[in-house]
Amino acid sequence: MARRQAETLLKEYRTKRDFSKTREPDDHRPARGTKKTAPVFVVQKHDATRLHYDFRLEWDGVLKSWAVTKGPSLDPSENRLAVRTEDHPLSYGSFEGTIPKGQYGAGTVMLWDKGHWEPEDDPGQGLKKGKLTFTLHGERLKGKWSLVRMSGKPGEKRENWLLIKADDEHSSRRGDVLRKYTKSIESSRTMRKISVSDVELPKWREPQLATLADAAPDGEGWLTEMKYDGYRALIAVAAGAARIYTRNGQDWTERFSEIAEAAAGLPTSGTLMDSEIVAFNADGKTDFSSLQKALNSGRALSCFVFDLLEEEGEDVTSLPLHERKRRLEKLLGGESEPLIFSAHVAGNASEIHRSLCSAGYEGIIAKRANSSYRSGRTKSWLKVKCTNRQELVIGGYSPSDKRGRPFASILLGAYEGNALIYKGRVGAGFDEDMMEKLAASFRKRARKTAPFADVPRDIARQARYVTPDLVAEIEFTEFTSDGMVRHGVFKGLRHDKGAREVVVERGSKAR
Ligand code: MN
Repeated sequence: MARRQAETLLKEYRTKRDFSKTREPDDHRPARGTKKTAPVFVVQKHDATRLHYDFRLEWDGVLKSWAVTKGPSLDPSENRLAVRTEDHPLSYGSFEGTIPKGQYGAGTVMLWDKGHWEPEDDPGQGLKKGKLTFTLHGERLKGKWSLVRMSGKPGEKRENWLLIKADDEHSSRRGDVLRKYTKSIESSRTMRKISVSDVELPKWREPQLATLADAAPDGEGWLTEMKYDGYRALIAVAAGAARIYTRNGQDWTERFSEIAEAAAGLPTSGTLMDSEIVAFNADGKTDFSSLQKALNSGRALSCFVFDLLEEEGEDVTSLPLHERKRRLEKLLGGESEPLIFSAHVAGNASEIHRSLCSAGYEGIIAKRANSSYRSGRTKSWLKVKCTNRQELVIGGYSPSDKRGRPFASILLGAYEGNALIYKGRVGAGFDEDMMEKLAASFRKRARKTAPFADVPRDIARQARYVTPDLVAEIEFTEFTSDGMVRHGVFKGLRHDKGAREVVVERGSKAR
């Protein structure tokens, strides 16, 4: 009987929700034993379109509910508007989590208070008449309270009530109980913690890497994109939350929080995208040293999104690239700054390469239009650079005789098997700040022996060595015949790459 009654009362609750999408409870059965104990009350902080507090009282086998727009107050002179909402199942009283975008009540729900309530008169009558008086035995809300229905205008759909604290030893005219308690009564989590940890996000996977090529490939079968100079990032998005992984699988969500927030706003229940996070320099080009400055100063970043690996929880890596990009463009929509869809041109790769190089850009990435997405380095993605760029490991430095200059140049190497092979020194491209930062890192890493397998004698005479775990991005004109960088310029440190991954990339001819 009670069960059938609850069933009827919960009709509206059920019609409003799609239980294949939301994790809110679909269960109306009263929790075991509740009959014998006092009825429960619960307050849920709900960050929906507008932040509000849902106030719920157990009655008739369901939770009678009100949305308190400003939240409860302990001050008896504060009458808080409480809009009556549909009855909720008893199991909702333990719900905490995130209701996905596009669903009814989308947003994060926190269990803010719970306990028992004691009605003063018959609640059935009170609900009809529009006045309930009761005592709350919660952890944050205690003492006497009342809910009073306001006389509505004829034909008004919403039932407006007022939630009022009675004057007693639990009332208070000072302070704000809502600001005093900002964490969950159940899990001690903040709203942000709940929204991020509650969602099952797509997992990191090894990104696809391009092979260095000497020339741009010909033919309509290749799509050409700009080569961006920033941090590679995989972005996982689901149900209003996002996570950002580096190419090595480190979680850098906090570091790129603005990008993550923008991604979290995308209407999807499980997407994994591939992208490059960048900053623009004064010329409007993406530039690695600008990115580092922006990261240090908190300046805004942008993110070029160029591939789609998972869509609505499904792996789409086996679809051809042009189809993945079509879906990606649709998902990003027209305006999702700072996320930018990375546009491409079909065919004419060498022409595009030439014009971009003469305009001072870094290069292009040419991708086979019909290729699937594959982890690791492949030849279906080719990078064709305008200038040479190479990551190299810092293994030491040459001291400077100039006053105030901590070093004259850095000594660089790359791995061949297990051996760190010396690749030359670079003394240009440092500003004062960077020099000091590097000098401090060198002091921490100082060591007596050379980390290189071999160092030319004239350099070894003066060299100071460091533990080789810093990776520098170097721009240079060419490798000399004995394998040293010529006219090298330091562009920045790469925190997203491990020193042991650093090998010299050799160009190959595209076919
Ligand atoms: Mn609500």
